[in-house]
Amino acid sequence: MSEKSHARSYLSTVLGCRCPRCREGKLFQYPLSLNIKRNMLMNKECPVCGQPTEIEVGFYYGTAYVSYLLTVLISGLSFLAWWLIIGLSVDDNRFFWWLGFNAVLLISMQPWLMRFSRSLWISWFVRYDPDWKKNKLGTFERIVPEQMNNW
Ligand SMILES: [Zn+2]
Repeated sequence: MSEKSHARSYLSTVLGCRCPRCREGKLFQYPLSLNIKRNMLMNKECPVCGQPTEIEVGFYYGTAYVSYLLTVLISGLSFLAWWLIIGLSVDDNRFFWWLGFNAVLLISMQPWLMRFSRSLWISWFVRYDPDWKKNKLGTFERIVPEQMNNW
């Protein structure tokens, strides 16, 4: 076992909503919460390495597409699981039961899904830097502090 074996993988970083640069700091201020506003409160910068979490104004607009794609993906998987486990037939209402089940599933996953979309999104723009302690952050000229979280 090497010393660096404790470093987080990409997957567990994204799933755990950690900073993509150091894979240590948390992106969100609070644990997963049903209070949507509180749930989505992010640290302005990574508490561990200082990576800003909002790289530019409106950075998270694109997450709408990510969460849409995830929703489609989850629906597809739940349909497949329902088909394999419960089965589908044109002679009864099982398809409509699946529709209801899927809606409840998606709604209950929403708080996590919204966070996960952001975590995934930022992980595509910020690269993991194993030497983040040595390498200083670049300048982020496009950041307008007054505009943060103001969209
Ligand atoms: Zn960090």
